[in-house]
Amino acid sequence: MEKPKARVDQTKCLSCGGCISVCPMDAIIMYANKSFVEEEKCTGCGLCAEICPVGAIRMAKMEVIVNQ
Ligand code: SF4
Ligand code: SF4
Repeated sequence: MEKPKARVDQTKCLSCGGCISVCPMDAIIMYANKSFVEEEKCTGCGLCAEICPVGAIRMAKMEVIVNQ
């Protein structure tokens, strides 16, 4: 089963914090001035990708990995 998850391209991230404030799951954290998605919390709603002003977030389908 595949689920879309948000992925941040840290080379593009401007640390504006917009994705963090919009995420309903609190799935995004700021680390070393770049945002990271905690994939286990992400529901794939896509709001963060929509709001990011530089297109640093993409929704990627990936295998849901269990027990790894
Ligand atoms: S896709 Fe939705 S749940 Fe996942 S990190 Fe972005 S805003 Fe949060
Ligand atoms: S919205 Fe985009 S530029 Fe702003 S912190 Fe999130 S990933 Fe970085």
